[in-house]
Amino acid sequence: MESRYNPAEIEERWQQHWAAQGVDRTPEDSAKPKFYALSMFPYPSGNLHMGHVRNYTITDVIARVRRMQGYRVLHPMGWDAFGLPAENAAIDRGVHPAQWTYENIDQMRVQLQRLGLSYDWDREVTTCSPDYYRWTQWIFLEFLKAGLAYQKEAAVNWDPIDQTVLANEQVDSEGRSWRSGAKVERRLLKQWFFKITDYAEQLLQDLDQLDGWPERVRLMQENWIGKSTGAEVVFKTAAGDDLPIFTTRPDTLWGATFMVLSPEHPLVAKLTTPAQAQAVQAYQAGAAAKSEIDRTAEDREKTGVWTGSEAINPVDGAKIPIWIADYVLMGYGTGAIMAVPAHDQRDFEFAKAFDLPIKVVVQPADQSLQVEAMTEAYPHDGVMVNSGPLDGIPAGKGAGQSVEAAVQWLEQNGKGKGMANYRLRDWLISRQRYWGCPIPVVHCPTCGIVPVPDANLPVQLPEDVEFSGRGASPLAKLESWINVPCPSCGEPARRETDTMDTFMCSSWYYLRYADARNDQQTFDPAKTNAWLPVDQYVGGIEHAILHLLYSRFLTKVLRDRGLLNFNEPFKRLLTQGMVQAAAYKNPTTGRYFAPSQLDLVNPKDPETGEPLEVVFEKMSKSKYNGIDPELVLGKYGADTARMFILFKAPPEKDLEWDDADVEGQFRFLNRVWRLVTEFGRAGAAGLLPAELSKPEKDLRFAIHNAIQQITEDLEGDYQFNTAVSELMKLNNALTDAPCKTSPVYAEGIETLLRLLAPFAPHLAEDLWQNLGHQTSIHQQAWPQADPTALVVDEIPLVIQVMGKTRGTIPVPAQADKQQLEQYARESELAQKYIADKTIKKVIVVPGKLVNFVVE
Ligand SMILES: [Zn+2]
Repeated sequence: MESRYNPAEIEERWQQHWAAQGVDRTPEDSAKPKFYALSMFPYPSGNLHMGHVRNYTITDVIARVRRMQGYRVLHPMGWDAFGLPAENAAIDRGVHPAQWTYENIDQMRVQLQRLGLSYDWDREVTTCSPDYYRWTQWIFLEFLKAGLAYQKEAAVNWDPIDQTVLANEQVDSEGRSWRSGAKVERRLLKQWFFKITDYAEQLLQDLDQLDGWPERVRLMQENWIGKSTGAEVVFKTAAGDDLPIFTTRPDTLWGATFMVLSPEHPLVAKLTTPAQAQAVQAYQAGAAAKSEIDRTAEDREKTGVWTGSEAINPVDGAKIPIWIADYVLMGYGTGAIMAVPAHDQRDFEFAKAFDLPIKVVVQPADQSLQVEAMTEAYPHDGVMVNSGPLDGIPAGKGAGQSVEAAVQWLEQNGKGKGMANYRLRDWLISRQRYWGCPIPVVHCPTCGIVPVPDANLPVQLPEDVEFSGRGASPLAKLESWINVPCPSCGEPARRETDTMDTFMCSSWYYLRYADARNDQQTFDPAKTNAWLPVDQYVGGIEHAILHLLYSRFLTKVLRDRGLLNFNEPFKRLLTQGMVQAAAYKNPTTGRYFAPSQLDLVNPKDPETGEPLEVVFEKMSKSKYNGIDPELVLGKYGADTARMFILFKAPPEKDLEWDDADVEGQFRFLNRVWRLVTEFGRAGAAGLLPAELSKPEKDLRFAIHNAIQQITEDLEGDYQFNTAVSELMKLNNALTDAPCKTSPVYAEGIETLLRLLAPFAPHLAEDLWQNLGHQTSIHQQAWPQADPTALVVDEIPLVIQVMGKTRGTIPVPAQADKQQLEQYARESELAQKYIADKTIKKVIVVPGKLVNFVVE
């Protein structure tokens, strides 16, 4: 036996042993209940960072505890492997994206294995591998069959120098290309969309079922879906064309004094009079170059142009001018709005800027609004006026109020109907990139869009392509790949050259793990239905909206295609906090400095001599505060790194890196190692004596109290930090126990190891087997608290004041001196005599009496 705790040796040995024995393989045919523990899979950048380590450690502890608690656990890992960085590496360094990606995966897999994470590597999935993306393509075709995939024109970022489409990440904050520096333009391209809007209401309603999700994530999704209720009303143009609008305030229809259309609205050309044509076209060109964020910014000066035409307000026949303005977007609602300047601030500013009429239709109860005197819109409560059938009704939403009354009136008079509108838009899945999953359709001049037949899947990415970062995507330039016979009529046709958004690849990977090696189908529904939903999903808050929403959407679509029998993919969600570390910042310049170039006792800007601020921020290269997991693992081992991460903060809170606390956990593991090693081989374990001595009773209480506390900490909110504190307390109780030859002590040692096993899996295994056990500690049952050990024996404690006995109170037999004094002080009996006195001294005789000396 080693004389010293040597994590490097222990950890590597046990990792090899577990892999050889298949300890972490997923049990398939078992009567045990299932538990699916999942971490969000990483992008294979090549380097594991502390954020990953935290995420995966949390999930690993949960998986290990559930295994010991008798569940059959699925705990897989894989790679979200398509995406831009690989293509950038190809452009910058001439490495093929596949080679770059697979090398990174190999490197990161080794790093993960060093952390002692209990993954079933037999189920590893890699989204860029043809045996995975074949099924991504198959799912795309299911969407196409369901009428949920379609093409339409949408704006892309266009680099006019490199003549290429840019991803949003390739455009800097000033709107310039990352490569050429050119000012990026907006261009319309025909692109593929998924109709997630068809599921908007379900995605919203089913948030109620997700009571295992953080409230703030549910709220973020709710806001993203952005449901608003109101009415659709059709305005008419003079030529008789329909101009439908959606409004949440149909009660203010009588106050509409103009309409505003998006510059991209299809009727703009028809509505524009010759006199206005030049101004309208110039305005449209300007709008096309702006991003949506710019166009809809609240504080922007209002711009717009009159088309020269008028519309007819259906409620009163009034003629109102039709304008165009870039703050109205084609993708939201109908691309047209009615403007009620008296009661909407943006419309008010627009009316003021262009001298358009303002008409008050809501009067406050306590004053009379005069248009000439108004300096801002009045969006508040009041009573309806100048509104025909609504006059006199209280303004607002609710029974008997104006919005409901307006919807009723519109429906009765055939002028409009009540409806809901959603901010959520269809999901643009097309990317003009190489390193993504090819969209499996062929464009035929005769047959139109033709799906690639299942037998011809996957549509493989061609390998022999050139990466210049200029011109069309490498796929769109490869004529030999593009030109294929139409699968339907056999005539010459062309492949789709767009690839899918990587969010598509990651929106179904959790289904594949249930049947990862299936080469006949996406997954066997029986297996997926048996393992899903995921019981505990763990990942970063940055995925609170898109990834989780797309996954929920995809689950519902596949359910409706008869492939899944559940509504929601993730039962419980834990969003772990960030890992932060000290950074040194000049508060005036905002510059960060590497600690290696500073005097850390008195850090100063090396150039200006100004004192630096020490701030805790998310680890990053640009702030010189990253800590490489490899270094920590090399110095202390994986078990210490895991213990520190779990101990330092509750999982959903941010964690501040602290070398002293890392050192503290290393010392704790050393103490456990010494304690168990000194105890020696199992031998003292045996039947408990019928009558326990007081030290034995006290120790048993400590053991079973630890079991109870830690078990509770590992339910619900996963309070790993307090669980680690309990482990430390139990270790102390064992260290201090006077009954080291008792079977109770042996029980304590083995319990400590079993409770420690999910947290520090290598150390616990090593010590466990050193005690003579033959099977892995990770295959042992989770300890159960013995209720009889937790019953507290009571003894009578004599209360004396100035040496005179005043009576007795019952106290727990295990109470120590300090606790006895506290029980005595707080007792009603003592209070009767000491409440208004100053206590000079307290004499405690353990197990017998407490005597108060008062003035
Ligand atoms: Zn054809």
